[in-house]
Amino acid sequence: MPVHDALVNGERIMRICNACRYCEGYCAVFPAMERRLQFTPGDLNYLANLCHNCGECHYACQYSPPHEFDVNVPRSFAEIRAQTYRQYAWPAPLAAMFERNGLAVSVVLVLALVLAMVAAALILGRTLVAAPPDPSGAFYRFMPPAVMAALFGGVSLFVALALAMGFVRFWRDMGESFADFTRPAALWSAAKDVLRLEYLDGKGAGCTYPGEERSQARRWFHHLTFYGFALCFAATVAGTIYHYALGSKAPYGYLSLPVVLGTLGGIGLLIGPAGLLWLRLRSDPATGDAGQFGMDAAFIVLLLATSLTGLALLALRHTSVCGLALVVHLAVVMALFLTLPYGKFVHGIYRSGALVRYALEKSRPATNVGFD
Ligand code: SF4
Ligand code: SF4
Repeated sequence: MPVHDALVNGERIMRICNACRYCEGYCAVFPAMERRLQFTPGDLNYLANLCHNCGECHYACQYSPPHEFDVNVPRSFAEIRAQTYRQYAWPAPLAAMFERNGLAVSVVLVLALVLAMVAAALILGRTLVAAPPDPSGAFYRFMPPAVMAALFGGVSLFVALALAMGFVRFWRDMGESFADFTRPAALWSAAKDVLRLEYLDGKGAGCTYPGEERSQARRWFHHLTFYGFALCFAATVAGTIYHYALGSKAPYGYLSLPVVLGTLGGIGLLIGPAGLLWLRLRSDPATGDAGQFGMDAAFIVLLLATSLTGLALLALRHTSVCGLALVVHLAVVMALFLTLPYGKFVHGIYRSGALVRYALEKSRPATNVGFD
C-alpha cells in the first residue's frame, strides 16, 4: 500500500477508535491514542510501532469487516510499520531491496559471503577441506585473527551506525527531544516492559497470537530468542577478552565461559526462532500484512541458521571439515548482521523507543479535553 494511503487509513481508524475506546485496556496503543485529538504521520508511526500485532483489538471489534467501518487496527499498523522500516532505514536503497525479497536476498548474501571467504582462503593458500585434523582445532589456521577482527569490526561498526541513524530518524519523527530520551525514569520503565515482554503477557493470560485463543507461547519463544542472542553476544565478548586480555587462543574447552555461554545461547536461538516461525506460519492472515512475510522469515531463518551452524562448528571443530564449517558459520553471522538494519530486527529498536516515549507521555499531563 502506498505510504499516503496507509497513513490516511490509519488516521481514519484511529478517529473511530478514539470515539469508541472499547479496547483501552488491551495494550499501550489505546491510552496513547486517547491523549490525542489529531493523528499526524509522526503520531501514527509512533502508535504503529507501539503495537505488537497481537490481534486482540481486532477480535473484539464490533466495527471490523464485514462492518462498513472496516476497522482493522493490527493490519493497518502492520502496513504503517513496514513503511517506517523503509522510511528510517540508512542507507535507504538497501531497505527497499530487502523489503520485498528478504529471504532471497539473505540466501544470496550467505552464498556470496561463503564464496568470497573460500576464494580468499584459496588465494592465501589455506586449505579449508580435507586438511589433517588439528588436535587443538585451531581456527586461526583458516583465517588469521586480525582478518577476522577487521571483518567483523567493520561490519559491526556499519550496522551500529545504520541502527543509530534509524533510531535518530524515528525519535525525531515523533517530535521528541533527545534530552528527554535520557530521562532515567522513562528508560527504566521501558527497559522493564521490554525485558519482561510485559504486553505479551496479557496480565498472565498471554496474548492472542497466532489466533484468537490466548497463550504464552509467543512470549516464551521471544524470550528464548532475545536471551539466546544476548548469551551468544556475551560469548563473543568473553572470547575477545580471553584472546586479547588473557592471551588464550580459540577454540576453548567445552566447559570454558565462551563455549558454555555460546552453547546455551545457541540452544535458545534454536528453539526460540523455530517457535516464532511456527507461530508465524499459523498466524491469522486477517491481522497481518502478507507482503511482509519474506522480511519476517528472513530474520528468523538467519537466526536459526546462525545457531545451527554455530552448534555444528562446535561438533566438527576437531574434524577435517572444521575450516569449511567455520567459513559457513562466519558467512551466516555476517549476513545476519548486515541485514539487521533492514528487517524485522528494527521493530525491536523502534518498539523500545516507542515504549520510552509512552513512559514520557504518561509522566506529562494530558492536553486533550475532548473530541474534535
Ligand atoms: S478496535 Fe474496534 S472496538 Fe476497539 S476501540 Fe477501535 S473501534 Fe472500538
Ligand atoms: S493488535 Fe494488539 S497491540 Fe496492536 S493495537 Fe491491537 S491490542 Fe494493541
